[in-house]
Amino acid sequence: MPGAVRIFQLAKKLGLRSEALMQVLGELGVSDVSAASSIDPETAKAAAELISEQALDARKQREAREEAEKQVAAEAAKVTEAPAAPAQTAAAEEVAAPTEQVVEAEEAEEAEEVETEEEEVFIDAPPWAAPESLRSLEEQLAELEDEEEAEEEVATALPDVARRASGERPEHAVDVPPVVAVLGHVDHGKTTLLDAIRDTDVVSSESGGITQHIGASEVSAGGRSIVFIDTPGHEAFTAMRARGGQVADIVVLVIAADDGIMPQTVEAIGHARAADVPIIVALNKTDLPGANVEQVKQQLLGHNLVAEDWGGDTIVVPVSALQKENLQELLDMILLVAEIQELWADPEAELAAVVVEAGMDESRGPVATVLVRHGQIQVGDVVVCGTSQGRVRGLNDWRGNSLKQMGPGHPVEVVGLSKVPLAGDIMVRAESMKQAREITQKQAVAERSVEMAGTARVSLRDLYRELGELKVKDLNLVLKADVSGSAQALEQSLMELDTQLEEVEINIVHSGLGDVTESDVLLAVASDAIIVGFHVQVSPAAERIAEDEHVEIRTYDVIYEALDDIQAAMVGMLEPIYEEQTVGHAEVRQVFRISRVGVVAGCAIVQGRAERGARMIVRRRDEVVFEGTLSSLQHFENSVAKVEAPGECGIATPEFRGWEEGDRIEIIAQVEVPRNLTVQASQQTG
Ligand code: GDP
Ligand code: MG
Repeated sequence: MPGAVRIFQLAKKLGLRSEALMQVLGELGVSDVSAASSIDPETAKAAAELISEQALDARKQREAREEAEKQVAAEAAKVTEAPAAPAQTAAAEEVAAPTEQVVEAEEAEEAEEVETEEEEVFIDAPPWAAPESLRSLEEQLAELEDEEEAEEEVATALPDVARRASGERPEHAVDVPPVVAVLGHVDHGKTTLLDAIRDTDVVSSESGGITQHIGASEVSAGGRSIVFIDTPGHEAFTAMRARGGQVADIVVLVIAADDGIMPQTVEAIGHARAADVPIIVALNKTDLPGANVEQVKQQLLGHNLVAEDWGGDTIVVPVSALQKENLQELLDMILLVAEIQELWADPEAELAAVVVEAGMDESRGPVATVLVRHGQIQVGDVVVCGTSQGRVRGLNDWRGNSLKQMGPGHPVEVVGLSKVPLAGDIMVRAESMKQAREITQKQAVAERSVEMAGTARVSLRDLYRELGELKVKDLNLVLKADVSGSAQALEQSLMELDTQLEEVEINIVHSGLGDVTESDVLLAVASDAIIVGFHVQVSPAAERIAEDEHVEIRTYDVIYEALDDIQAAMVGMLEPIYEEQTVGHAEVRQVFRISRVGVVAGCAIVQGRAERGARMIVRRRDEVVFEGTLSSLQHFENSVAKVEAPGECGIATPEFRGWEEGDRIEIIAQVEVPRNLTVQASQQTG
């Protein structure tokens, strides 16, 4: 359907949750849809209009409410203007409560204070309900349609450029090594297996060079080579694994033979299947006494992976990464599968390479490890890669050897780009630096428009919150990471975290690479965000501004620590739960009877605190003589909200006049109890 949009995309664009948008659509008679359903542009427009209308209504209501509140406050203020200030002569009256009128007036003042605060908030808030921004809804909608078309174009164009060569093989084509991604459940031994394979290779190779971590490596087995892509192992890295599946020709699925198929094993199978990549199962940890190879093969049946010796065509290789056992067999099997794939590439074709990993190197600047798919890359080439461009200054293989050029099929580290590209970006050659800049500028404009859509989204969310449909608090984050892989992983896990709590919404305002800079801090100021740095430093200038502007910057080296902290922050943002608790005890030392005021108990706080508005239980010996509200609290001549032990105070209530010296007062107040995710979860289900 031309111009059709999916509900979740439109919702994202409007800064709503899909469910909220579906509710609005329901009002328009569109039901039986899911977040993934497409709706036609007319319906989308109608929904946006309805939201605008509701926003306007909400605004009018709010204004009316504010006006009414102001009048009430003004009335209350008038009462104070005719005051009966308490006389200051008698000593007794020094501890006396002011007249009730004064108490009231005070409260009215407080109410007014609150009101002004609210006013400020509204002034600061984006003018969401201004007619101009309402008009922009339609513009945004049109923009969304354009973007979608553009996205579709890019989505179909880019992978094509970097896809494996297929069809008729030219004369001058060369055989290329298979690209292998190692996937599997956490702790099943992926890293150990990769290390073991590389070690064996480094030991056996003549150069015995120092291996570098560049995100990919190339090992030789029996005169042929295999390219391995690093894929971190926890579910937090699902995004990267998915990408690994796309670049890879073969997936080695690591399953610990003592543990069997686990959730991430199943996910990995899904990724491999989605990318239509053959799976070789490495049954690891066979050295352990608990290893049960046959049992895992049995489990594999449940996922339509039938081992060869069970009559199927899934290659299963028992190995021990730790003991380096049977690794050669695994490599042989990889080469066998690759042979059937007949992988080749055209070294004379236009250059196309895929970024596998990228980061910022202190001395060399942006570095990117790319997998050359077609053509060759040479030192001196002008290249474009996402929004970055540059002249190739240096090329290195994974052992750190410097090269002049690299042909198709191999991973290589590229130095000389203007900025750090993203994993998955495609690198192509440009005619000149001028042309390269033109291309990247276009890309940058496209990126910015996406970012701007992000800003609109926050204000629209405010709008919807006003409607009272959702009570969502935003946790805005600016993310900075060293390499695109960790940035993506962090984003992915944050999105997972986001789904855990209905009341708090994580917004990633910006996600970038490299150290935290001034501009990150300014962005955080503008969007009221917290900066989260992963494996990066904070520039001194950024630190200074952050301090001035009270922007919180948190840096981490471990992803889970970052997630834990953010989770804690989310919990901190939850609406507090209050519980009645005894907060203090007081004892009546002297009773004052004051005309026009009533009876005031002059007390000593013996423990904790007394709070105005708290509940109090007055006991005489063991008998309860009064239970009610502590409506007036005095500290010398001042009316106060709270007095702490060991202070003295005057306590009074119009409900009780029979105070006696020696009465004991228990003070019970609403106390905020800390929330946590478990509380939240049980509330949601309950
Ligand atoms: P990953 O999370 O999948 O990358 O798993 P790691 O490679 O980090 O391995 C997790 C743990 O399993 C480590 O303590 C390894 O030493 C251990 N391990 C990995 N392979 C083997 C193996 O073949 N045998 C035994 N006994 N332990 C292994
Ligand atoms: Mg690992």
